[in-house]
Amino acid sequence: MRRFRFRASVILPVLVLVVAAAGGVVAGTQSSDEQALRSARPGADRQIERRVQDLLSRMTLQEKLEQIQLLPDFMVTEEEVRRGLGSVLSVTDPQRIRELQRIAVEESRLKIPILFAFDTIHGFRTIFPIPLGAGASFDPRVAFEDHRYGARESAAVGLKQTYAPMVDVSHEPRWGRIAEAAGEDPYLNAVLGAARVKAIQGTDYSAPDKLVASPKHLVAYGQPESGRDYNTTDMSPQRLWNLYLPPFKAAVDAGADTVMCSFNAINGVPGCGNDEMMNRVLKGQWGFDGFVESDWTAVAELRACPPRNPDTGPCGHGVAADGPDAAALALNAGVDSEMTSTLIRDFGAQLLAEGRISMRRIDDAVRRILRIKFRAGLFERPYAPVAPDQAEAEMLKPDAVAAARKAAGRSMVLLQNEGGILPLDPARKTAVIGPLADNQHDMLGPWWGAGRDADVVSVLDGIRQQSPGATYAEGCKLSNAEPPTDDPEGCGSDAGFAEAVATAEAADQVVLALGETREMSGEAAARSTLDLPGRQEELLRAIRATGKPVAVVLFNGRPLALEDVVGDAPALLEAWFPGVQAGPAVADVVFGKVNPGGKLPVTFPRRLGQVPIYYNHEPTGRPCDPAQKYVSRHRDIPTCAPLFVFGHGLSYTTFEVSDLRLSASAVSKDGSLRASVTVTNTGERKGDEVVQLYLHDPVASISQPVRRLRGFERLTLSPGASRTVTFTLDRSDFGFYDNRGRFVVEPGRIDVYAGNSSSAALKRSFTVRR
Ligand code: BGC
Repeated sequence: MRRFRFRASVILPVLVLVVAAAGGVVAGTQSSDEQALRSARPGADRQIERRVQDLLSRMTLQEKLEQIQLLPDFMVTEEEVRRGLGSVLSVTDPQRIRELQRIAVEESRLKIPILFAFDTIHGFRTIFPIPLGAGASFDPRVAFEDHRYGARESAAVGLKQTYAPMVDVSHEPRWGRIAEAAGEDPYLNAVLGAARVKAIQGTDYSAPDKLVASPKHLVAYGQPESGRDYNTTDMSPQRLWNLYLPPFKAAVDAGADTVMCSFNAINGVPGCGNDEMMNRVLKGQWGFDGFVESDWTAVAELRACPPRNPDTGPCGHGVAADGPDAAALALNAGVDSEMTSTLIRDFGAQLLAEGRISMRRIDDAVRRILRIKFRAGLFERPYAPVAPDQAEAEMLKPDAVAAARKAAGRSMVLLQNEGGILPLDPARKTAVIGPLADNQHDMLGPWWGAGRDADVVSVLDGIRQQSPGATYAEGCKLSNAEPPTDDPEGCGSDAGFAEAVATAEAADQVVLALGETREMSGEAAARSTLDLPGRQEELLRAIRATGKPVAVVLFNGRPLALEDVVGDAPALLEAWFPGVQAGPAVADVVFGKVNPGGKLPVTFPRRLGQVPIYYNHEPTGRPCDPAQKYVSRHRDIPTCAPLFVFGHGLSYTTFEVSDLRLSASAVSKDGSLRASVTVTNTGERKGDEVVQLYLHDPVASISQPVRRLRGFERLTLSPGASRTVTFTLDRSDFGFYDNRGRFVVEPGRIDVYAGNSSSAALKRSFTVRR
């Protein structure tokens, strides 16, 4: 039986931040969702284990193999369901879900309900900002609300599992899927990932508005060479343990009961054939008693190409000779449920007869799946909580839409604001220009769930709601065509520039909406440049030349290389892909109803050649210095710095972070100490600041990152107001994982930095005693 353990250093910030972020809401009323954030779900109970055992003892081998099978919408047939199919993904029509479930619980021999799964990544129908945007909020409440409403809407159609949160740390902006998690820092991903799990599952995911969560993709999927999706990853154990595994650990500790293994290989071992990660670490060391599903056809992809046997389907990694070999490898390495490919089901009996897999292992996989179905309450309540024809009424409810608007506003990052151009005055005549202005489609971002373009309020409409009579010109058109095509990005023509310039000239101020299409982010959407696609930079320069105040609002799913843009964009707001409430949220920030307080969860490089560039890098023997030769630098870039550092973000007011104090100057390895710091709003508007705490271990047996985020808190302060924020640091913060995956705390000095970005200047030190 698994007992949930909480690592104080990850869970506490979730609680502290939620209380801080939600203010009176949390303090006043305690909904069960609030309790979910605070309490551990109890482990498996004995009664469930007895029911699982009873069912298992009555199953034939074939029925067990059917439970292991997970099929997508287009492969599932009613006949499969009658035979006892285990799980189905991507069916979202409530009528269809109900009918398939009816067949399962009435017409299959053992009447085992199906687990229906879906990728509710940043909303089901009410689409929230992409997770990279939620990361920029530095606010666990934003991540929590996103998944709370996502779970409620998903459950209303009959879904009971979501393939979220995606917690893949990434230092690779070319990779399209950097949009799907919280960026380059393991701690931020851990805190937000844990909040998401709690929102999805609540205290008990058998509740009618809850699902079982599935953090993914185990592991290090975020670091593919060249940024090409699915590509090879080669990684030192210490990096794996320090950077990529912690968010998974936090998600499992928060109660996540399913996990997805990844497509990519690390050090030659594909994620869904990785015995060490699935069996030894996840199920062994971490005590995970739920199930692991493979990613889409990842089991079949273990095979060499062309496969020796004539079995069909994908192939590739070459760690298995053929279908049976791949099935045995995956099952033995810890895959419990096979998505889309059918090798375990097809070859299970043969493999068992040959002694290449054991009945014990098959039973273990099925037991894990049944356990989750029991915990999900599916045997008691197999159907959605509302009738299929009532499900639509559960979508886009006012509370969800309001939460999406708030989340979008909180995720925006003010990159620069020279001359205080922002906020604009809504009473003045506003021109809204750019390919992403009158645009609903792209605002939904790369995983739009069951979202519909028509649900989106465009930037143009949002601006018009607050600045009536705003005028519009598109400038150029981005493309969402899939390559190969001559113009995969679009905006290749300047034919619309003259009209755009004329529109700007006739107005008092301009909101210029630039960036990427949603198709340029997400799965299989790597880019080989990080520039603004097409001729958007030229469009910007043409609009700037009018001399009108211009606020550039960026929509994108990755860090962009904006070296050639910043000079022409004195006011630059990063809006990511904000979701259904894109327009109102952009207008709220642009006109100052909402004071932006987001911070970058990823480093923005100057140019592509700097990639990978990230704040939590190790030092070298020749630290970067642009003025010297034999040092670690690019000779053609006059600085070592990125364009915008991790944690950077401005406000319409100003803040001072001061008075960093430590409660002790020395501490034992198992002791703890407090670091406190004061934040003061030194400007003239109410606003949000994110206080950030970083550590550095200057002398260790393994070279340590120059900074590691170990605490943050977003707070709202009125002009002149101050607050002291206190962080507790313990051995989980002092130590690190070595190259054998062991957590070690070494004696010596630790430097503490506090401030409002990863460049934080305040510094104090303490010593960890022997
Ligand atoms: C993706 C997963 C996703 C799955 C099911 C795969 O291609 O890598 O993240 O959960 O499809 O849609």
